[in-house]
Amino acid sequence: MPEQSNDYRVVVFGAGGVGKSSLVLRFVKGTFRDTYIPTVEDTYTQVISCDKSVCTLQITDTTGSHQFPAMQRLSISKGHAFILVFSITSRQSLEELKPIYQEILAIKGSVEAIPIMLAGNKSDETAQREVQAREGEAQASTWKCGFMETSAKTNSNVTELFQQLLALETRRDMSLSIDGKRSGKQNRAAQLKAKCSVM
Ligand code: GDP
Ligand code: MG
Repeated sequence: MPEQSNDYRVVVFGAGGVGKSSLVLRFVKGTFRDTYIPTVEDTYTQVISCDKSVCTLQITDTTGSHQFPAMQRLSISKGHAFILVFSITSRQSLEELKPIYQEILAIKGSVEAIPIMLAGNKSDETAQREVQAREGEAQASTWKCGFMETSAKTNSNVTELFQQLLALETRRDMSLSIDGKRSGKQNRAAQLKAKCSVM
């Protein structure tokens, strides 16, 4: 069972060009680029706090195309949590998430215990808006998942998106901070490991 491993795998899905790579790079590296470089599939890792110890957060940035359905199914079956990204400037990009959500539902059987965040990215592009925030919220309540509007460009709600995703995980107690705030409870080896890993 995947939930017993020391890795926590997050998979980011969405149509091409909605900003999946930009959100992941903003979160992991704090950078943003204006040019569009299509992604095949990349995985980034970060050390996070998990059940008073540390674990590895693995973030898979997918291609967004449906060219590799077998790859998509594999990502879903290996994933513990999912971020479904659309662009608020494209209603079509929200539509394209629907079959992905259905596939997650089909493979996982139920989404009740699966953390999923719907992200309406490019919230800075107000003049180009096609999808209202309340429509994103309505979709999220249908899907029983979380919702947030984000901007990888202006760094709005990016960390919050990942924080809220981890907060939806009920089987583990996870947090992005590993700075030993729960000192005393955490064992010494875990503290040292955390210290080394963040450098
Ligand atoms: P992906 O195909 O979903 O991985 O999309 P990318 O992350 O490669 O981004 C596609 C394009 O949208 C790039 O030109 C990005 O610079 C741009 N982009 C990504 N996020 C944002 C955002 O939050 N706001 C704006 N205005 N542009 C963005
Ligand atoms: Mg990409």
